[in-house]
Amino acid sequence: MEIVFFNTLGREYQRFEPLEDVVKIYCCGPTVYHFAHLGNFRSYIFEDILVRFLRKSGFSVKHVMNITDVGHLVSDADEGEDKMVLAAKREKKDVLEIARFYSDVFFDDARKLNILKPDIVCRATEHIPQMISLIKKLEARGFTYFAGGNVYFDTSKFPDYSKLRAGQDKSSVARVEEDPNKKNQEDFVLWFTKSKYRDHILLWDSPWGLGYPGWHIECSAMAMTHLGETLDIHCGGVDHIPIHHTNEIAQSECATGKLFSRFWLHNEFVLFNNDKMSKSKGSIVTVSDIDSKGFDPLDYRYLCLLVHYRTQLNFTEETLKSARTARQNLVLTLAKFLAENRLSVSQIESTSSFKYLSTVAEDLNTPKLLGQIWTDIENLTVDTVSSILEIDEVLGLNLKSKIILCSTLDTQAQEIAAQREISRKNKRFEESDKLRDVLTEKGYLVFDTNQGQIVLNRNI
Ligand SMILES: [Zn+2]
Repeated sequence: MEIVFFNTLGREYQRFEPLEDVVKIYCCGPTVYHFAHLGNFRSYIFEDILVRFLRKSGFSVKHVMNITDVGHLVSDADEGEDKMVLAAKREKKDVLEIARFYSDVFFDDARKLNILKPDIVCRATEHIPQMISLIKKLEARGFTYFAGGNVYFDTSKFPDYSKLRAGQDKSSVARVEEDPNKKNQEDFVLWFTKSKYRDHILLWDSPWGLGYPGWHIECSAMAMTHLGETLDIHCGGVDHIPIHHTNEIAQSECATGKLFSRFWLHNEFVLFNNDKMSKSKGSIVTVSDIDSKGFDPLDYRYLCLLVHYRTQLNFTEETLKSARTARQNLVLTLAKFLAENRLSVSQIESTSSFKYLSTVAEDLNTPKLLGQIWTDIENLTVDTVSSILEIDEVLGLNLKSKIILCSTLDTQAQEIAAQREISRKNKRFEESDKLRDVLTEKGYLVFDTNQGQIVLNRNI
């Protein structure tokens, strides 16, 4: 099976094969100063699909994600205060308490979205020595300078600096702060000393004085610590292309002289009322927001699958509602088929569904895959059910457990269903219709088939 991904580096579709036995994947994780919103989670859902797909295709995968708990300033371009420090002031807590609280919420939300935990989750504050040694390497190779108390990366020394963002729309290249200490406008800080922000709480000793690392160096250091000098795939949102990922490449490649990542995969934004969902604009929706409105977080996962990861996703309550309806109908259709054929989920033997997997191999084309599934569902067979359940290991919609839930009646519903069965046998149709209404009102769907009645729970 040929696997093709759209590589931002080169801006073209490229055939993917790992360099070694294990596929090495690094994903930029959350800065844990606030609740992650659904726009952020689109990245983690897309990365989850990627990892699940590669595993299903027979590869071993080492998936590393970082947690930024220091050094990420309000702007990605070294501007403003540290996000973590601001949050600590706002909530009158210490920085590590903030980090612990928001990373716990993050992993809780991720679990609700059925996102598998990465193999390694690494925290910036636990990798300071690795960051310092990387900066020292860059210093020894002549890529840094010291000005105004900070260590800067000199972008003019790296001719390939703009390679990742080549061909990108200029408007997406973020504004860079005017800093009188910089030699070139695009230079960025590798190490801040206390002189820049006196109220910074987390400070470490370094050859350049007491201070803290820049955000970009964190990812380079952690990625190379856990995955080696060349990664197979580096992922993130498109907003990371112009600065963060461009800077990660510069630092890593200048330190090692090797290609940092062979593939760069980026997902597009989530739009909320036609604007980018962002904290600064106050237009954020979180997992608990949709949870409290009665949605299953998997409805959002389904919505993400409906739109290709490199296309903007328009989030409204309406689009989420249609995703819910489609997801529930998928479960109900499968559950009804199994009930009609007197089969349980555990009796369905697994087959390797090459057809579905090869669709995902086309740059993770999940919208096309869902289209195929909906076509195939019109003439369901046991084999098709088996293939759908099999590919759900990639889609992550929890179809098996949802089918079981769908086919499970509470005690009261079981009694009503049993009574109704008796009234039907005795041809007391008026009574049987009434009992059907009671079940419908309780959230069940009732089907009368040649094999008897089938009652399914609609609230899945
Ligand atoms: Zn990063």
